Amino acid sequence: MDSLPAHQRPPSVDRILGWPALVPLLAEYGRPAVLAEVRTQLAEWRGGPGDGWPADDVFAQHPFAAGLAAALARSHAPRLRRVFNLTGTVLHTNLGRANLPEEAIEALTSAAREPCALEYDLDDGRRGDRDRVVEGWLRELTGAEAATVVNNNAAAVFLLLNSLASRKEVIVSRGELVEIGGAFRIPDIMTRAGARLKEVGTTNRTHTHDYADALGPRTGLLMRVHTSNFAIQGFTARVSEVELARIARGHGVPFAVDLGSGTLVDLARFGLPAEPTPQAALRQGADLVTFSGDKLLGGPQAGILVGRADLIARIKKNPLKRVLRVGKITLAALEAVLRLYRDPERLPERLPTLRLLTRTAEEIAAQVERLLPSMQQALSGWPLALSSEPTGSQIGSGALPLERLPSRAIAVRAPRRQSAVLRELEAALRGLPTPVIGRLEGGVLFLDLRCLDDEAGFCAQLAGLCRP
Ligand SMILES: *Cc1c(COP(=O)(O)O)cnc(C)c1O
Repeated sequence: MDSLPAHQRPPSVDRILGWPALVPLLAEYGRPAVLAEVRTQLAEWRGGPGDGWPADDVFAQHPFAAGLAAALARSHAPRLRRVFNLTGTVLHTNLGRANLPEEAIEALTSAAREPCALEYDLDDGRRGDRDRVVEGWLRELTGAEAATVVNNNAAAVFLLLNSLASRKEVIVSRGELVEIGGAFRIPDIMTRAGARLKEVGTTNRTHTHDYADALGPRTGLLMRVHTSNFAIQGFTARVSEVELARIARGHGVPFAVDLGSGTLVDLARFGLPAEPTPQAALRQGADLVTFSGDKLLGGPQAGILVGRADLIARIKKNPLKRVLRVGKITLAALEAVLRLYRDPERLPERLPTLRLLTRTAEEIAAQVERLLPSMQQALSGWPLALSSEPTGSQIGSGALPLERLPSRAIAVRAPRRQSAVLRELEAALRGLPTPVIGRLEGGVLFLDLRCLDDEAGFCAQLAGLCRP
């Protein structure tokens, strides 16, 4: 830089930090961050031809100042950003699954802000058990004798296997050796939990005698895994829960069911496809049932174990329970959600997951009609065709993989051989202040409006898509 004429040579870092234009940046980001960014920007600075360094007071107009402000804003932006989920998948694992009800948000906020009786028995003033926060609700809602909660359902399955079947065999049908997204495979979890997998039957058919023949002195557990994210159709056979419970009991081993997506109400009463409930599994004879807090239940991320008191007690004695336990924020939110289940009639208005799942295609179509003109106007500079089209939303998180909920989308099509424009639009949508995530399928970009609550917020930023 010394080779530059004097007026083009950058000033010292100290002088730059003293410039009036940096006062608001220093106030917002603090001196260490601004100093580091000034150094970075100076090292990268390549003044354009004829770009001189101005007098101190006009520095605010200098491209260096603008670059500095932009770089600081970028590096300080939160990484966990709010998005519009227009993918059509209601419980989208990559987008955070269930949205919590207001009651849960209030409860977790209060738990976050102030001390709470997390592990403190207010009746006798002694140390308590954090599971007590939700155990009563879970017993009431599922009919189970006891319950405990861990970080997620994968942890619940792991803890169950490690507590009850370490160095023992666990009998599972070959049709249920599932992989859940994100590297959760039943056989791998089993190995890591110290249990030996004993596969029985075939992929499509497993019979009572397959289970009965596999039982032996080393059997620790008989397990059913709800095949939540795929379906085997055609020439199939499976043994009922009632029958599995009978076989397990006859041999004196527990029968566990991993439901994955547990809902505590019969979804059919809301016009949704039926999904097995923990209470039904327990009635049919399961000794233990595991399910997620943030799938169909509509609560925070958690793994819930319900069932026989003696088995839950053994699970809670496992030191790994301490490793996998949940925090107060999770328990506060989970309790608030469970309380809503006391009044199933009003669930669809109060529980966002159920409200989104029960929105009708007509309701969503009306919303598409409302928003289509604004979208068309915002995209008028793009060579794209927009229309209102029927589509199918998915429940997501593995629940009911074959079911599609009739919905409506803004469908965006590019002219022949110009599909790159669609990718460009997809990127532009992602680049909005609140990124919009759609679904690209068969060369069409679908914006399924089932999960769009904040219509005003969505419209307010559409101008950001305009191009000349
Ligand atoms: C989703 C699922 C899991 C994992 O639950 P997480 O809460 O995501 O950890 C385990 N088993 C089944 C059958 C599932 O569907």
